Amino acid sequence: MPSKLNRFGTAMVVAGVVALATVTPARADFNPIGTEPAAPYAQPADANVPRRGCTTTLPDPANAAGSVPAVQVIYAWHEGNGNNYEAYAERIAKIVDRMDWLLDESTDHDQHIKLSCRTGHDTGTYPGYARALVVPEKIEAADVPGETGPGIVADDLEAAGYDNAGRTYVVFEDFDGTATAHCGGVCVATSDEWDSGTMMHELIHLYDVDHAKVSEVADTLSINDVMTSQYNDWQVDQEFNTYYDPSELPALFHTSSHPDPRRLNLAAWSRFTVPTCCDVGYSNDLLTAQERTIESQAPYGNPSGFTVSGGGWTQVTPPGPDGATSARYYDGRRSLTMNVQSYADGFVSVTRRPAVTAGQRYRFFARLTTPTSGNVKLRLSWYTFSNTLISTGDSSPYALSSSWQEYSVSAVAPGGAATVQLSVVSPSGQNFAYLLDSLQLNRCDNGRTGDGCRLDG
Ligand SMILES: [Zn+2]
Repeated sequence: MPSKLNRFGTAMVVAGVVALATVTPARADFNPIGTEPAAPYAQPADANVPRRGCTTTLPDPANAAGSVPAVQVIYAWHEGNGNNYEAYAERIAKIVDRMDWLLDESTDHDQHIKLSCRTGHDTGTYPGYARALVVPEKIEAADVPGETGPGIVADDLEAAGYDNAGRTYVVFEDFDGTATAHCGGVCVATSDEWDSGTMMHELIHLYDVDHAKVSEVADTLSINDVMTSQYNDWQVDQEFNTYYDPSELPALFHTSSHPDPRRLNLAAWSRFTVPTCCDVGYSNDLLTAQERTIESQAPYGNPSGFTVSGGGWTQVTPPGPDGATSARYYDGRRSLTMNVQSYADGFVSVTRRPAVTAGQRYRFFARLTTPTSGNVKLRLSWYTFSNTLISTGDSSPYALSSSWQEYSVSAVAPGGAATVQLSVVSPSGQNFAYLLDSLQLNRCDNGRTGDGCRLDG
């Protein structure tokens, strides 16, 4: 239900000050157990969700001095509904385990949430683990009827000693609360609607990730992401180009509305373990951040990492209106403009040829737009170890439009293939310019969606 998106305040955390976006603040229906997201494919059944476990264990979770950075899970209650800790602790732990699962399973990298636990419980059993992980806290100021805002929760936690700078608090509210992210004294991700997608969405906000401009159409939001459709989707940044790239931690992304200067990479957050490659997950990418996003050098210069041949010439897209500069509104990242000339087929190729495995399916994605009109194809060219071309595979011609639409071509690497070249081909006879951005080479082995590739954005 897209309209429910308006319930979520947009946290903009700047120097400890929170500015809520102009959306109408939440008027939460108290709904302690929400519906778990089920896309891009179903999560494992409760019994099969891996137990995340404790990264660090303290005698007193309100005294985290000297401890590693971590997430502290809080069960927050008030007099109105009473203290249902015993009834809910294991259910909350399952939701936290699913939050960890979705982070790990979003990509082919192994990455997890660092969780803080308390001593005094037998973590060898699930009930004991849940009680070590989830700490109850009464929010006295929530006793009054009506909705309790995140500032009240944060103030209560701070007064109770939960004020360590190395802690981020994930608060399950057992009262009419608010699904939002808030920093003031302490940083809290709160929700009275308990499911992993909603709570992960709010936790991600606390690393200063806004509802980023992740659009194929200027100023609208992409749909396949826990940041924008947490009611259905559990996966994080399937394109590796909006706020999360575990394959290249120094890659930074512009995570708020242009011209906000903040840039970051969620994969580098101290509340998560360092990502390691490679395992099976929903999405992956075999390109570098430069190849994927086309970082600008000098205006009008030639971007590194790309080769042009045949009919046309390329340049970094000159400065201009947001939607005509980049598909993703990066600061310092723009796009590549191909000025097509009619005398021959034109080719823009990623110069480096990533390694592939014969018999494995791959999908090449790119976002393309033109202010006028024209046709292009996407091409996969397969090469042997000795750099001999084996074969090429083209998409059908795509008629480009004035929006940043995503296009793709998929094929199984033929026998003997060792590398692949990615190209955008403009058939001869055309005179127009197109913009290229947001490339991705997906190894289709998630094993769960159709042909195993990530879904179109
Ligand atoms: Zn949000």
